[in-house]
Amino acid sequence: MTALLSVEGLSAGYGGAPVLDGLSLSVAAGETVALLGANGAGKSTLLKALLGLVPARGALCFAGEDIAALPTEKRVRRGLGYVPEGRRVFAGMSVRDNLEVAGLPDRRARAEDVGRVFALFPDLARKSAERAWRLSGGQQQMLSLGRALMGRPRLLLLDEPSLGLSPKLADEVFAAIRAVAESGTAVLLAEQSAARALSAAPRAVLLRLGRVVADGPAAALPAAALHDAFFGL
Ligand code: ATP
Repeated sequence: MTALLSVEGLSAGYGGAPVLDGLSLSVAAGETVALLGANGAGKSTLLKALLGLVPARGALCFAGEDIAALPTEKRVRRGLGYVPEGRRVFAGMSVRDNLEVAGLPDRRARAEDVGRVFALFPDLARKSAERAWRLSGGQQQMLSLGRALMGRPRLLLLDEPSLGLSPKLADEVFAAIRAVAESGTAVLLAEQSAARALSAAPRAVLLRLGRVVADGPAAALPAAALHDAFFGL
């Protein structure tokens, strides 16, 4: 299978302190991959490095193109979507406007995309005229996802989408993520909750101290590696 995203020997850090240490990883078109690891393993840093939000070294190929030297905006235009940690929505704007401002310049295409997001998240459709601050945490996370989908990404990078949500709302958000995945968009999902992530992703990549320590079908993940990634030092 040709990879949609292919990363080789990626190193990144903050002000000289290394966080990612020669990391390699690939994601196929339409594939959903869970990125697991303890707090501080480097999950967020990896997503940011893919987007060019933190300086990185190494080979970065997306949809057959070397994107390592491209600025963030161009990577997004090539099809990398990003939902950062912490539900970034415009609180004072309506649900519909939140989606519209994240959409393509072409009006008709944008309207189509809003329709697609509403079909995927009926809760948002029902609340399209509400201001975003009135939504529940789970609905805000869906809106954040919806905003990323408005750019028609080929790969969606999700950072801890269940963080701070009640189990019930987290379940709803994960149902939405499965729906996105089923619609054919590839997803790289950083999560601390392995059980939840594996409910949406057939494959998992386990990070520890900025390196990949296991990569394979979720069912075949060695328990020892999981335990070690979360609790070992
Ligand atoms: P978390 O679940 O806490 O987000 P993570 O696996 O996503 O964990 P990262 O956020 O990538 O981990 O952090 C990896 C390391 O980089 C940690 O040691 C963290 O303290 C450090 N780090 C993260 N952001 C910065 C920053 N802006 N400046 C300096 N160090 C940072």
